[in-house]
Formats: sequence, C-alpha cells, structure tokens
Amino acid sequence: MDVSESNLNLSPNKLTGKVAIVTGGASGIGEATARLFADHGARMVVIADIQDDLGNQVAASIGTDRCSYFHCDVADENQVKRLVESTVNIYGHLDVMFSNAGIVSPSDQTILDLNVSEMDTLFAVNVRGMAACVKHAARVMVEKRVRGSIVCTASVVGSVGCTRATDYCMSKHAVVGLMRAASVQLAARGIRVNSVSPNGMVSPLARKKRGMSDEDLRERFRKFARLEGVDLTPKHVADAVLFLASSDSEFITGHDLKVDGSLTQL
Ligand code: NAD
Repeated sequence: MDVSESNLNLSPNKLTGKVAIVTGGASGIGEATARLFADHGARMVVIADIQDDLGNQVAASIGTDRCSYFHCDVADENQVKRLVESTVNIYGHLDVMFSNAGIVSPSDQTILDLNVSEMDTLFAVNVRGMAACVKHAARVMVEKRVRGSIVCTASVVGSVGCTRATDYCMSKHAVVGLMRAASVQLAARGIRVNSVSPNGMVSPLARKKRGMSDEDLRERFRKFARLEGVDLTPKHVADAVLFLASSDSEFITGHDLKVDGSLTQL
C-alpha cells in the first residue's frame, strides 16, 4: 500500500494542545520526556520534582510558554493533590500524567540484609507516590470527562527477580500491579493506564545505585541487554512514553511496554 493511503500518523505533533504532568521531570527519563512532549506540541508540560533549581532550569530551557515547574514531593499525597489541582486550575484540564519519579535505596541489599527502614522510604516514593499520582490524575480526568492517558515508570525488575536491590524490585512489581488494576477500573471512563519498563541506563539514579563511572555503567548495561549496537538512553524511554501518551496507542491500556533490548524475554 502507498504510504499516503495508510493510516500512519506521520505528524511530528502527537500531543498538540495537550496538558501533561511529568513527575521526576528535572532529570533523566522525566527530563527527556518533558522535552519530547513539548517538541510534540503539548500546550503545557508541568515538571513536578523536588530538585527546584534543576527543575526550573529545565523548564526555562524548554521555554516557559510551553513548560513550567512545580515543587512536588510525590511521597506527600497533599502535594500531589495540589499539583494536579493547580494544573487544572491554570490550564483547564489534564490529558497526560507521566508518573515517573523514583528512587533507589542507599544500600544495595539482598533479602538476607534487607533494611526495612530504607524500604519504607523507598516505598513512600516508588509505590505510594506512584499510586497518589495515578489516583489524583484519574480523579480530575473523570471529573472533566477527559479521555486521558496515564503512564507509570516501572522497570525490567518489575516482572523478573534480581540479585540485589530487593526493595526496588518489590516496588517496581507494585507499580505494574497498580497500572494493571487502574487500567481495568478506568477503562469504562475512557482513561488508559500503561507503564514503561526500561532496562538499566546511565542516569543520576543509576550512578547513585551502582557508584560507577558512566563508561563502566554502559559496559555493565550492555551485558544485560541482548540488542547489539545501541545503548539505552532516556530518549529511547521517552519515545515509548510518547507512544503511550498519544493517540498512536488509542486502543492500548493495561500494557507494560518493555524498553529492554530483549532482556526479559528469555
Ligand atoms: P533520575 O534520578 O535521573 O530522575 C528521577 C527524578 O525523580 C529526579 O529528578 C528526582 O529529583 C525525582 N524525584 C525523586 N524523588 C522524588 C519525590 N519524592 N518527588 C518528586 N520527584 C522525585 O533517574 P531516572 O533514571 O530518570 O529514573 C526515572 C524513573 O525510571 C524512576 O522511576 C526509576 O526507578 C526508573 N528506572 C530507571 C532506570 C535506570 O537505569 N536509570 C531503569 C529502569 C527504571
């Protein structure tokens, strides 16, 4: 078939007029996604993070007419509620929630030496924070009758076990469970809920977790992924998030999109 006859959406503007929130948008995957959303015509991208200087810098570099910064610690449900309410008050509605903020624990434990206090701190962000973002985004989408898209960042370790970082692995399994339950419950309202599950890549989070140089990290992650000739970057994940956020994935909900170079397929 001639491409001109097909339904392929070749428009560079997949989010024209949309209002989006990106949590953890000051850095890494969130920053790359905020930039891509703005490049694709989003009316406003609200970066929500706790790194105020960095978040403001990223918003300014994208352009304050298309991107703003809002301080929000996702571990605090009231702050998440205020983030969503303020976005809707200023921009009228919310079309896309990219719930992406996540952390790793200071120690990289097996179950034998699991530090449950560190686990509580990690769960407050990775699980409770993720759930609060999905909850409050869904509430305003229902209230405003918006057929919105919610995307959560899980991980390859959200569906397989791992040798260390037990609490992180548990938290990412919970994200996939949250996404699945919410997708079933919100489908009747026309709201889609999906997740992305990246393999390891160089980012501030990975640097903190592994304590290695960027080149050593890249070498390590190359061993995990089976796909030759390309190193995973935040932009690859942002491309997957854009697909799930836009009408390109209009009939896809409840899906965990692996961005993992086939790591989890064996
Ligand atoms: P990153 O550290 O570059 O970005 C995370 C952002 O989240 C930071 O800007 C940070 O300030 C923000 N954040 C942390 N706690 C917060 C809180 N309480 N409230 C609001 N914002 C908060 O890391 P990244 O690699 O871009 O990670 C983004 C997501 O991707 C995380 O959920 C992470 O678990 C996931 N992930 C990362 C990798 C990887 O290898 N980098 C792999 C799989 C999944």
